[in-house]
Amino acid sequence: MTKNRIFYGTGAAEGIPDPFCRCPVCENARKVGGKEIRHRTMFRVNEELCIDLGADAASQATVLGDLIGLHHVLYTHTHEDHFCPMMLQMRGMATHREEEPLHLYWTDRAYDIVPFLRNDTPVIKGNTRQLEEKGVIQFHQLHFGQETNIAGFRVLPLRGNHIGSLGENSANYLLTDANGKTLYYGLDTGWYLPDTFQALKGRHLDILITECTFGLTPNMDRHPDGHLHAFALVELLNVLRDQGTIDETTQVFATHICHWTSTHQQLVEYFKKQDLFCPLTVAWDGMQLPEDV
Ligand SMILES: [Zn+2]
Ligand SMILES: [Zn+2]
Ligand SMILES: [Zn+2]
Repeated sequence: MTKNRIFYGTGAAEGIPDPFCRCPVCENARKVGGKEIRHRTMFRVNEELCIDLGADAASQATVLGDLIGLHHVLYTHTHEDHFCPMMLQMRGMATHREEEPLHLYWTDRAYDIVPFLRNDTPVIKGNTRQLEEKGVIQFHQLHFGQETNIAGFRVLPLRGNHIGSLGENSANYLLTDANGKTLYYGLDTGWYLPDTFQALKGRHLDILITECTFGLTPNMDRHPDGHLHAFALVELLNVLRDQGTIDETTQVFATHICHWTSTHQQLVEYFKKQDLFCPLTVAWDGMQLPEDV
């Protein structure tokens, strides 16, 4: 089974359906299933590399591909839908795991979670420091605006307008592969910060994966902090086009979608009506990006 460029989860923190929720979007998901079901967010770049390893990573791995050959995780921020400490313990419990440690990357102040984890003693057993000593995991710190080579990609973290559990700005990641193809992972992000717009000037994105957390929720800020909605996303695409970052060849994928207002189907219909200058796909769990992007 290929593990290239697959959405393991496309939901926000509560998933769809939120198991405790009776709202129309959650009830519709229970009835219709398929693309209406959204697990917590994770994107598998390839066998070796993924972005976030969240609350549903273990269960999704049984359906979409195991994590045996996974060696690198870029974390966007410390919110628990994107980071699940139990995943580190599960690697430690694997009796036939690969020898290479699982490299875990935190950007800027999100790295503050590492000393906290080292002193943490999970209820289940052992502690994170022992996992490091045994070579099960290894932590690394990345910095905004500094490019690093990871798993054959050049990785540039840019500052997101979204605050994580430790008060840190989220990291959005610009990945450039060996052929120069670029993928920007913009979640969680909200309306981009000025220095992020600036850093993306003069870059051309082949793929933009973007949050669309609040879907069709009306009457929100036009340029929201924290999370985007569909209306802000359409405007963001225009701004990115006007500054030369994206064009009609850029393929956009919307993900990290919450249950407030819109089903998958409604979002698809909304974007179709916008007659956008570039192709936009509302992503679903298990969706694989086309190989030619
Ligand atoms: Zn999130
Ligand atoms: Zn709901
Ligand atoms: Zn978040």
